[in-house]
Amino acid sequence: MRLILFGAPGVGKGTQAKMLSSKLNIPHISTGDILRESVKDQTVLGKKAQGIMNRGELVPDDVMIGIIKIRLSKPDSQIGFILDGFPRTEVQAQALDDLLEELKMNNVSVVNIVADETEIINRLSSRRACKECGKIFTFDQITGLDKCPNCGAENSFYLRDDDKADVIKKRLEIFKSSTLPVLNYYRNRGRVITINGIGNSKEVNDAILRELNN
Ligand code: AMP
Repeated sequence: MRLILFGAPGVGKGTQAKMLSSKLNIPHISTGDILRESVKDQTVLGKKAQGIMNRGELVPDDVMIGIIKIRLSKPDSQIGFILDGFPRTEVQAQALDDLLEELKMNNVSVVNIVADETEIINRLSSRRACKECGKIFTFDQITGLDKCPNCGAENSFYLRDDDKADVIKKRLEIFKSSTLPVLNYYRNRGRVITINGIGNSKEVNDAILRELNN
Protein backbone atom coordinates (compact mmCIF):
# COMPACT_ATOMS: atom_id res chain seq x y z
CA MET A 1 0.00 0.00 0.00
CA ARG A 2 1.21 3.50 -0.83
CA LEU A 3 -0.10 6.30 1.31
CA ILE A 4 0.38 10.04 1.60
CA LEU A 5 -0.66 11.45 4.96
CA PHE A 6 -1.83 14.95 4.35
CA GLY A 7 -2.82 17.66 6.84
CA ALA A 8 -1.78 20.79 8.71
CA PRO A 9 1.22 20.69 11.06
CA GLY A 10 0.13 19.18 14.36
CA VAL A 11 -2.91 17.39 13.00
CA GLY A 12 -1.45 14.01 13.97
CA LYS A 13 0.18 12.82 10.73
CA GLY A 14 3.30 11.56 12.50
CA THR A 15 1.40 9.59 15.14
CA GLN A 16 -0.93 8.06 12.57
CA ALA A 17 1.92 7.28 10.18
CA LYS A 18 3.77 5.37 12.92
CA MET A 19 0.66 3.38 13.87
CA LEU A 20 -0.10 2.54 10.23
CA SER A 21 3.52 1.65 9.57
CA SER A 22 3.57 -0.99 12.30
CA LYS A 23 0.10 -2.32 11.37
CA LEU A 24 0.70 -2.52 7.63
CA ASN A 25 4.40 -3.32 7.87
CA ILE A 26 5.51 -0.64 5.43
CA PRO A 27 8.06 2.13 6.10
CA HIS A 28 7.09 5.49 7.55
CA ILE A 29 8.91 8.18 5.60
CA SER A 30 8.82 11.54 7.38
CA THR A 31 10.67 14.33 5.57
CA GLY A 32 10.61 16.35 8.81
CA ASP A 33 12.39 13.49 10.64
CA ILE A 34 14.95 13.12 7.84
CA LEU A 35 15.69 16.85 8.02
CA ARG A 36 15.85 16.90 11.85
CA GLU A 37 18.28 13.96 11.76
CA SER A 38 20.48 15.90 9.29
CA VAL A 39 20.34 18.98 11.54
CA LYS A 40 21.36 16.86 14.54
CA ASP A 41 24.30 15.39 12.57
CA GLN A 42 25.14 18.85 11.16
CA THR A 43 25.44 17.48 7.60
CA VAL A 44 25.55 19.88 4.63
CA LEU A 45 21.79 19.39 4.24
CA GLY A 46 21.24 19.89 7.98
CA LYS A 47 23.15 23.16 8.06
CA LYS A 48 21.15 24.42 5.08
CA ALA A 49 17.78 23.32 6.50
CA GLN A 50 18.21 24.39 10.15
CA GLY A 51 17.42 28.11 9.83
CA ILE A 52 14.60 27.50 7.36
CA MET A 53 12.95 25.00 9.70
CA ASN A 54 13.39 27.21 12.77
CA ARG A 55 11.58 30.00 10.94
CA GLY A 56 8.74 27.65 9.96
CA GLU A 57 9.44 28.07 6.26
CA LEU A 58 9.72 25.39 3.58
CA VAL A 59 12.99 23.82 2.48
CA PRO A 60 13.39 24.36 -1.31
CA ASP A 61 11.53 21.94 -3.57
CA ASP A 62 14.63 20.67 -5.40
CA VAL A 63 16.25 19.67 -2.09
CA MET A 64 13.12 17.87 -0.89
CA ILE A 65 12.56 16.12 -4.21
CA GLY A 66 16.17 14.89 -4.14
CA ILE A 67 15.66 13.47 -0.63
CA ILE A 68 12.47 11.63 -1.63
CA LYS A 69 14.05 10.24 -4.81
CA ILE A 70 16.82 8.64 -2.77
CA ARG A 71 14.46 7.37 -0.07
CA LEU A 72 11.88 5.83 -2.44
CA SER A 73 14.60 4.05 -4.37
CA LYS A 74 15.65 2.06 -1.29
CA PRO A 75 14.59 -1.61 -1.24
CA ASP A 76 12.20 -1.28 1.73
CA SER A 77 10.05 1.25 -0.18
CA GLN A 78 9.32 -1.27 -2.92
CA ILE A 79 6.66 -3.03 -0.83
CA GLY A 80 4.88 0.24 -0.03
CA PHE A 81 5.32 3.35 2.09
CA ILE A 82 3.64 6.03 4.14
CA LEU A 83 4.74 9.55 3.28
CA ASP A 84 4.42 12.05 6.13
CA GLY A 85 5.18 15.69 5.32
CA PHE A 86 5.69 15.22 1.57
CA PRO A 87 4.52 16.56 -0.84
CA ARG A 88 4.02 20.04 0.61
CA THR A 89 3.81 22.03 -2.65
CA GLU A 90 2.28 21.40 -6.07
CA VAL A 91 5.79 21.23 -7.56
CA GLN A 92 6.64 18.43 -5.12
CA ALA A 93 3.37 16.63 -5.93
CA GLN A 94 4.10 16.76 -9.66
CA ALA A 95 7.68 15.55 -9.11
CA LEU A 96 6.39 12.70 -6.94
CA ASP A 97 3.97 11.63 -9.69
CA ASP A 98 6.80 11.60 -12.22
CA LEU A 99 9.03 9.63 -9.86
CA LEU A 100 6.33 7.07 -9.06
CA GLU A 101 5.66 6.58 -12.74
CA GLU A 102 9.37 6.07 -13.35
CA LEU A 103 9.54 3.55 -10.49
CA LYS A 104 6.34 1.88 -11.77
CA MET A 105 4.56 2.55 -8.51
CA ASN A 106 0.98 3.68 -8.95
CA ASN A 107 -2.18 3.68 -6.82
CA VAL A 108 -1.28 6.19 -4.16
CA SER A 109 -4.00 7.04 -1.65
CA VAL A 110 -4.07 10.39 0.09
CA VAL A 111 -5.30 10.40 3.68
CA ASN A 112 -6.37 13.94 4.48
CA ILE A 113 -6.53 14.45 8.27
CA VAL A 114 -8.49 17.51 9.37
CA ALA A 115 -8.83 19.40 12.67
CA ASP A 116 -9.74 22.99 13.48
CA GLU A 117 -7.04 25.58 13.95
CA THR A 118 -7.54 26.17 17.68
CA GLU A 119 -7.06 22.45 18.35
CA ILE A 120 -3.92 22.43 16.19
CA ILE A 121 -2.37 25.44 17.94
CA ASN A 122 -3.09 23.85 21.35
CA ARG A 123 -1.53 20.57 20.31
CA LEU A 124 1.61 22.07 18.81
CA SER A 125 2.34 24.44 21.66
CA SER A 126 1.83 21.77 24.32
CA ARG A 127 3.83 18.97 22.73
CA ARG A 128 7.45 18.17 23.56
CA ALA A 129 10.13 16.20 21.71
CA CYS A 130 12.96 14.06 23.02
CA LYS A 131 16.25 15.50 21.81
CA GLU A 132 17.82 12.03 21.73
CA CYS A 133 15.29 9.88 19.82
CA GLY A 134 13.09 12.62 18.34
CA LYS A 135 9.84 11.07 19.60
CA ILE A 136 7.05 13.57 20.21
CA PHE A 137 4.94 13.48 23.37
CA THR A 138 1.92 15.38 24.58
CA PHE A 139 2.44 17.30 27.79
CA ASP A 140 0.25 14.79 29.69
CA GLN A 141 2.34 11.82 28.56
CA ILE A 142 5.52 13.15 30.15
CA THR A 143 4.35 15.22 33.11
CA GLY A 144 6.45 14.17 36.12
CA LEU A 145 8.84 12.02 34.05
CA ASP A 146 12.56 12.75 33.92
CA LYS A 147 13.37 9.95 31.44
CA CYS A 148 12.12 9.54 27.89
CA PRO A 149 9.66 6.58 27.85
CA ASN A 150 10.91 5.68 24.36
CA CYS A 151 14.72 5.74 24.65
CA GLY A 152 15.40 6.30 28.35
CA ALA A 153 17.39 9.52 27.83
CA GLU A 154 17.39 11.75 30.93
CA ASN A 155 16.03 15.30 30.95
CA SER A 156 15.77 15.26 27.18
CA PHE A 157 12.37 16.89 26.58
CA TYR A 158 12.30 20.19 24.75
CA LEU A 159 9.95 22.49 22.86
CA ARG A 160 10.91 22.38 19.18
CA ASP A 161 11.87 25.84 17.88
CA ASP A 162 9.22 25.44 15.22
CA ASP A 163 6.54 24.72 17.85
CA LYS A 164 6.95 28.19 19.40
CA ALA A 165 3.89 30.44 19.04
CA ASP A 166 5.13 32.83 16.33
CA VAL A 167 6.59 30.00 14.26
CA ILE A 168 3.37 27.95 14.57
CA LYS A 169 1.51 30.92 13.10
CA LYS A 170 3.93 31.06 10.17
CA ARG A 171 3.72 27.29 9.56
CA LEU A 172 -0.07 27.45 9.45
CA GLU A 173 0.03 30.38 7.01
CA ILE A 174 2.40 28.49 4.73
CA PHE A 175 0.25 25.39 5.03
CA LYS A 176 -2.76 27.34 3.77
CA SER A 177 -0.96 29.16 0.96
CA SER A 178 1.45 26.51 -0.37
CA THR A 179 0.35 23.09 0.90
CA LEU A 180 -3.44 23.15 0.84
CA PRO A 181 -3.49 23.46 -2.99
CA VAL A 182 -1.83 20.02 -3.10
CA LEU A 183 -5.13 18.55 -1.92
CA ASN A 184 -6.93 19.83 -5.02
CA TYR A 185 -4.12 18.46 -7.14
CA TYR A 186 -4.91 14.98 -5.79
CA ARG A 187 -8.67 15.48 -5.74
CA ASN A 188 -8.48 16.09 -9.47
CA ARG A 189 -6.39 12.98 -10.01
CA GLY A 190 -7.21 10.23 -7.59
CA ARG A 191 -8.27 8.96 -4.27
CA VAL A 192 -8.50 11.34 -1.31
CA ILE A 193 -9.89 10.03 1.96
CA THR A 194 -10.82 12.69 4.51
CA ILE A 195 -10.61 11.76 8.20
CA ASN A 196 -11.59 13.72 11.29
CA GLY A 197 -8.38 14.13 13.30
CA ILE A 198 -10.14 15.03 16.57
CA GLY A 199 -10.30 12.16 19.03
CA ASN A 200 -7.77 9.81 20.49
CA SER A 201 -5.13 8.38 18.19
CA LYS A 202 -6.67 4.89 18.18
CA GLU A 203 -10.07 6.19 17.09
CA VAL A 204 -8.47 8.18 14.29
CA ASN A 205 -6.37 5.18 13.26
CA ASP A 206 -9.40 2.86 13.19
CA ALA A 207 -11.24 5.40 11.02
CA ILE A 208 -8.35 5.52 8.55
CA LEU A 209 -8.12 1.72 8.31
CA ARG A 210 -11.90 1.44 7.85
CA GLU A 211 -11.83 3.94 4.99
CA LEU A 212 -8.81 2.32 3.35
CA ASN A 213 -10.56 -1.05 3.36
CA ASN A 214 -13.64 0.35 1.63
P1 AMP B 1 7.34 18.41 9.93
O1 AMP B 1 7.98 17.63 11.00
O2 AMP B 1 6.75 17.55 8.82
O3 AMP B 1 6.33 19.42 10.43
O4 AMP B 1 8.50 19.24 9.20
C1 AMP B 1 9.29 20.17 9.92
C2 AMP B 1 9.87 21.20 8.97
O5 AMP B 1 10.71 20.56 8.01
C3 AMP B 1 8.86 21.97 8.14
O6 AMP B 1 8.28 23.06 8.86
C4 AMP B 1 9.72 22.43 6.97
O7 AMP B 1 10.58 23.50 7.34
C5 AMP B 1 10.61 21.21 6.74
N1 AMP B 1 9.98 20.26 5.78
C6 AMP B 1 9.56 18.99 6.03
N2 AMP B 1 9.04 18.43 4.92
C7 AMP B 1 9.14 19.36 3.95
C8 AMP B 1 8.75 19.39 2.58
N3 AMP B 1 8.15 18.35 1.99
N4 AMP B 1 8.99 20.53 1.88
C9 AMP B 1 9.61 21.58 2.45
N5 AMP B 1 9.97 21.64 3.73
C10 AMP B 1 9.75 20.52 4.49
